[in-house]
Amino acid sequence: MLKNRKIALFVGCFAVLALMLQFNLNNKLDFPTCEDKKLLVTDIAFFVDIGVLERNKKVDVENRIIDMLGVANSTLENSCINLQRRLDTVYYEDLQNIPQQGTEYALKHDELIWKMDSKKRELFITNPTKYIVAIYKQLPGDVIGYTHAAHASRFVVLSYEANNFALEHELGHLALAGHESNDEPRLFGGSAKIAHAYRCGNVRSIMNEDRSSGDLAPFYSSPNIRFKNESCGLLNDANNTEQLIRWTRLLEANIDLYQSLGVID
Ligand SMILES: [Zn+2]
Repeated sequence: MLKNRKIALFVGCFAVLALMLQFNLNNKLDFPTCEDKKLLVTDIAFFVDIGVLERNKKVDVENRIIDMLGVANSTLENSCINLQRRLDTVYYEDLQNIPQQGTEYALKHDELIWKMDSKKRELFITNPTKYIVAIYKQLPGDVIGYTHAAHASRFVVLSYEANNFALEHELGHLALAGHESNDEPRLFGGSAKIAHAYRCGNVRSIMNEDRSSGDLAPFYSSPNIRFKNESCGLLNDANNTEQLIRWTRLLEANIDLYQSLGVID
């Protein structure tokens, strides 16, 4: 009992320390004042594998999802990207196999969409603002999440062990944001020139996978964000914020087109 209390105290102290550290990082980061722009809301349906429930209650799973969405929205807000992530539904299903690249991944997306009722299914097929995220108890190796945008452009696979940054990191990939510039190109043969992550001071932008270069912080690379006197991006070479803003514009144009054709309301 005492031992457990000591562990609880230790965990509690660690959580407080982590929060203080996050507060300090965000305090040193200087985010720009954003222009007033209409937010484009993207709805996300989560399919949680029942294996996750072996050790977690539904309420804990749903709180985790809310935390991930919170980090995603802080990241977008801090970067002045007029996108918002919103929870649609949480489904609990036996997701069976973890899809590998390509056809398997696309088939898993289709399989999940067919678990929705017909009205919702139609919405998730036709509306470009609707996303699906599959959460497994664990993914192979040390992978915590992935996307294959060329095979299913609105589908993310996550591990329940992922950190809270992983959701927006993967959604960033679906908007064709890329990793730091020395990373191997992998999205359609390489990211756009601007679509690279960055680090400033001892923090790294959300798409930066190089753990040795600092702690993750809730922002996309941008020359308009600063850490003390250091820029957190390069206008033409490390500006995932601009990539996401362009992506949002494309989404808005698609929505206008689909509405004019009567495909969506
Ligand atoms: Zn990545």
